[in-house]
Amino acid sequence: MPPSQPLPVRVLDWFAVHRRDLPWRRTYDPYQVWISEIMLQQTRMERVVFYFSRWLARFPDIASLAAADEDEVLSLWEGLGYYSRARNLHRAARLLAGAGGTVPDCHDSLRKLPGIGPYTAAAIMSIAFNRDYPVVDANVERLFSRLFDIATPVKENLAFIRQQAAAMLPAGRSRDFNQALMELGALVCLPKKPRCGSCPVVHACAAHQHQTVHERPVAVAGRKSILIEMACGILVRDNRILIQKRQADDVWANLWEFPGGRLQEGETPEQAVVREFEEETGLAIAGLKKITAVRHSYMHYRVTLHGFFCQAPEGEPALHAAQENRWVRFEELDDFAFPAGHRKLIKFLQESGFGS
Ligand code: SF4
Repeated sequence: MPPSQPLPVRVLDWFAVHRRDLPWRRTYDPYQVWISEIMLQQTRMERVVFYFSRWLARFPDIASLAAADEDEVLSLWEGLGYYSRARNLHRAARLLAGAGGTVPDCHDSLRKLPGIGPYTAAAIMSIAFNRDYPVVDANVERLFSRLFDIATPVKENLAFIRQQAAAMLPAGRSRDFNQALMELGALVCLPKKPRCGSCPVVHACAAHQHQTVHERPVAVAGRKSILIEMACGILVRDNRILIQKRQADDVWANLWEFPGGRLQEGETPEQAVVREFEEETGLAIAGLKKITAVRHSYMHYRVTLHGFFCQAPEGEPALHAAQENRWVRFEELDDFAFPAGHRKLIKFLQESGFGS
């Protein structure tokens, strides 16, 4: 490729050869592009492809998603985290189903839908409808911080980066150009080991010329992780396990869980699970048997969840902290959406042969 070619041409030519074959790129159906964009928030591409295909098999269009029960929507989302994204998709599908049943080809209308911010609206306008909107994700931010050798943190330069992305955008080629920039960031201009030797824009890269590639983007002081310890109890009666559905307005809204909660200061996991179980269900549990402790992270929290088998006297649980509870067989747990820690605990039990 001659170095005299303008940068957009070089990027587009590179994309034509190196683009990944992703399911939503086969048709650019607006519903599919929308789903993919929501799934791609906070989630790696490889993971999204699996979840996207499974989602499409069950919810091929807006009508089927709108008609679905929320429990099923959350269950199919499990593993992607940040469940508010699934709830918003579901709510938006219901709004669209009642208004023609299509994804609007209009930035302002998209912005009015739950869960669609300025970035996602621009991405749908560009990728689904090929409208001339610049799309700047984290890959493009990193790419531009190097192309322009930006010596201050990216977040302080977003307006400049968006301006440059808009100025470069070739009219009528938005779909390919935006995806090409993102793909270049994802496959070549990698965070730790950028592949400058294979880069189609190396001739125009200021960081490469100034030998500052590994200092860009400029890092900002990270937010400190917060460690949290939690404990939950698995109460088994007549081969059924007690689970409860969280309230609709709390952080894990409408997800299912084993009763339990966060350790208070000075408490052991055993003390915490006894107290929490009683507070949440009114049942005084005893006979605790430790199962394991599982770890998971969300946002800047690092959570350790201690799981226990427990026993309780006869009597039904009260609903002090949940909207519903059920006694279910172990093999039925896969039909319900659980937060990541509880799902890890279930997986541990499955792999240990429990219930078989
Ligand atoms: S030359 Fe290297 S640092 Fe510059 S854009 Fe290409 S891959 Fe990134």
